[in-house]
Amino acid sequence: MTCRIGLMTSGGDAPGMNAAVRSVVRTAQHSGAQVFGILDGYRGLMNPETGIRLLDCATVSGILSRGGTMLGTARCREMLEVAGRQQAVRALVERGIDRLVVVGGDGSLTGADTLRQEWRNHLQAMIDEGTLPPSVLEEHPVLSVIGLPGTIDNDLCGTDITIGADTALHRIVSALDAIFSTAASHQRTFVVEVMGRHCGYLAVMAGLATGAEWLLIPEDPPPDGWEEQMGMVLSKGRAKGKRATIVLVAEGARDRQGRPISSHYVQQVLEERLGEDARVTILGHVQRGGSPSAYDRNLSSLLGQRAAREALREHIDSSILVGMRGNRPTTIPLMEAVELTRQAQASCTHDAELKGLTLRGQSLADAYHLFQVVNGPPPANPAGKPRRIALVHSGAPAPGMNMAVRTSTRWALAQGHEVLGIRGGFAGLARGDVEELDWMGVSGWAGLGGAELGTSHGIPSGPELYSAARVLEDHGVEALLMIGGWSGYEGVHRLYRERTDYPAFRIPMLCLPASIDNNLPGSEFSVGADTALNSIVEAADRIKRSAVANRRCFLVEVMGDMCGYLAYMSGLATGAEKVYLHESPLTAARLLEDLQELKGSFEKGRSVALVMVNEKAHPLYTTGVLRALFEEEGRAQFDVRQAILGHLQQGGDPTPFDRTMAARLARAAIEHLQESLEQGSDLCGFLGIQPQGIKVWDFHDYTRMIDENHRRPRNQWWLDLNVVVGDMAAT
Ligand code: ADP
Repeated sequence: MTCRIGLMTSGGDAPGMNAAVRSVVRTAQHSGAQVFGILDGYRGLMNPETGIRLLDCATVSGILSRGGTMLGTARCREMLEVAGRQQAVRALVERGIDRLVVVGGDGSLTGADTLRQEWRNHLQAMIDEGTLPPSVLEEHPVLSVIGLPGTIDNDLCGTDITIGADTALHRIVSALDAIFSTAASHQRTFVVEVMGRHCGYLAVMAGLATGAEWLLIPEDPPPDGWEEQMGMVLSKGRAKGKRATIVLVAEGARDRQGRPISSHYVQQVLEERLGEDARVTILGHVQRGGSPSAYDRNLSSLLGQRAAREALREHIDSSILVGMRGNRPTTIPLMEAVELTRQAQASCTHDAELKGLTLRGQSLADAYHLFQVVNGPPPANPAGKPRRIALVHSGAPAPGMNMAVRTSTRWALAQGHEVLGIRGGFAGLARGDVEELDWMGVSGWAGLGGAELGTSHGIPSGPELYSAARVLEDHGVEALLMIGGWSGYEGVHRLYRERTDYPAFRIPMLCLPASIDNNLPGSEFSVGADTALNSIVEAADRIKRSAVANRRCFLVEVMGDMCGYLAYMSGLATGAEKVYLHESPLTAARLLEDLQELKGSFEKGRSVALVMVNEKAHPLYTTGVLRALFEEEGRAQFDVRQAILGHLQQGGDPTPFDRTMAARLARAAIEHLQESLEQGSDLCGFLGIQPQGIKVWDFHDYTRMIDENHRRPRNQWWLDLNVVVGDMAAT
């Protein structure tokens, strides 16, 4: 019998739910299963005649870029009653559905697990009353439940991130950027309320990604007298020259007595303490709306694919949550995740130990601490022996570089060190273009694109090495942090190899990955790549929309040097028909096969097709050649247009993901440099984001880890996702 899966979105809507729906439907259909869409959450089960419909690949076409959920979502009171749940079981079993995929928050997932637990009892009761045949118990002995975390608050334990949280952060951070510019013009104070009834994730990450100065979150109820403390700290910031003050309040913020702290109360406190007007902005539903970010689309596609595969595996009496851990889809028992979530919520109320925060994951607790250090006023008397740490960029500018400089500067200053900024890359180092960086000097850099310190591509050689060594010695530089891309790694590698001749290079040196290409060894992500990806996805969405009525194939060329990350991930996020990368060689035979397939699909009614092409996918089959070939061969079926996105991919303000990652990496870099200085080691390495967290690699391993000819890592994790694009293609 055909396997039948019920699929619903429930609870609050979250951007990315559509991508999850598309992914579940397409993956299941490729395996011959049927997916029934349940409309408006559990409400669809209460009115099954109109509330349940069969979905196929075509019905989920063109929804990747849409916010909200095509299936609709709602709260459904009947589910809280036994009779309502029996009605839900009947609706499912009468349609032969005994596997259920639910995208939602802890309430929706609990509801699904309750249905699973009660499944047999309800069936038996309906058999006993004669409204179902006895055979249903044998045909559908159990209900398998697969949950997907869909909530913008990121308040579910058991997954690092939930569907919709990244997009919500995009909305919040762009609103905060806008508020900052007006606040700075008028020297004003703003209180901004963000979502998060039980969880401060959005507030903490938005705070870290911007220059907000004070946070009130459910997990850290402030002690009595917090009003005075807040007033004091903010006045200090003003005295030091801060023109804009922003206090972020999560909607669930409470004090230690469990009393809610409203944004209007904070406004009142600020007006009294600072003696100036304070404005309140409640971001509200703006945070839920709009097109999903590239990250949310790909997260949802990956999780949806895994969920469908789990649903098709064994038909067993279990409920699991498919989540993301360390950048990989994983499963955990659903009720374990719900239980942990409840514990985290419960420990918020009166807890001063930040247990609620830690239960949600160490990285959130670390981000909160980092925020408190770098977004406050300059520290008064930092302890410790001051060391001189220099920062330099190298390679193309990557959005988020400024955040990395800002955070490493402030974190180092907070530990009592001195920070030097080298202007214009290694060339600037050789010229001696060095200046001291101070706390307020990097104010306002959090959301700035480009590279304020300046960057260049050159790798020091010959006499430059000598000059660079002299400059380091003259300025008493004791440690060096390079924030940049491939040429930066090559540059530091050069200094490392020249250590025998130049003692000035025998200092701890680290590279922090910052390149839109995401082509650096030892790191699954580099700062800037997420921003570039979002720029590409936005452009591709527009390009696609420009041709709805025409039969048109777009060849979109994207950057990446010889690394196909941007092409591949943007292909996944935009639903591209084909993706051409240097990593999977283009041949004439493959191109002709693809052309045949495209021609066939246009003949069947396709109106637009997207092909993402990496800028160096093939030395001969360039985008121009591909265009000529597609035009010539596809003439009867479609037009061809070529779009070379160019430098818009390098520009723009960094996304929240790039900003917070830059901040986390910067802190880790300074900590490692400090540790090396304390231990007297001359560590020379590079940092990276790995599934287990941030890791430092030694330059000993560098040559082994890179594919030098193609300027990319030997192992690229995202190539393993190949199967996902295959599963996502419409049949
Ligand atoms: P979220 O899924 O975002 O946490 P809710 O808590 O509002 O949102 O739950 C959404 C829907 O899930 C509810 O309207 C109800 O139909 C169902 N639901 C929630 N909790 C339960 C429960 N304990 N038992 C059965 N159904 C539930």
